[in-house]
Amino acid sequence: MRRTVKPSPQEWRTVPLPRGWVKIRKRILHRDPQCTLRTRCQGAASEEVDHIGDPNDHSDRNLRGVCHTCHAHRTGQQGAAAANARRPSRRRPAPRHPGIT
Ligand SMILES: [Zn+2]
Repeated sequence: MRRTVKPSPQEWRTVPLPRGWVKIRKRILHRDPQCTLRTRCQGAASEEVDHIGDPNDHSDRNLRGVCHTCHAHRTGQQGAAAANARRPSRRRPAPRHPGIT
């Protein structure tokens, strides 16, 4: 199992993680030793820290420990939602009334 934190330059995040993230992360994983999501596990050991709401809010109440499987599932959903939001609408624009110039 890889336990290294990789601050890669090609991070998908649009919001950079704060200074001291490693310490914050450690604290949250200590507080939530088991996955709090459990959408894909039965309470596996927490390996990653998820932002519950605002990705800019790094306070403890906005963070929770999750396992890799559930986190990947969740971030995958968020990525898909973001991609859908960026895609232009497939709906035809409403026709303009010919009488209006
Ligand atoms: Zn899990």
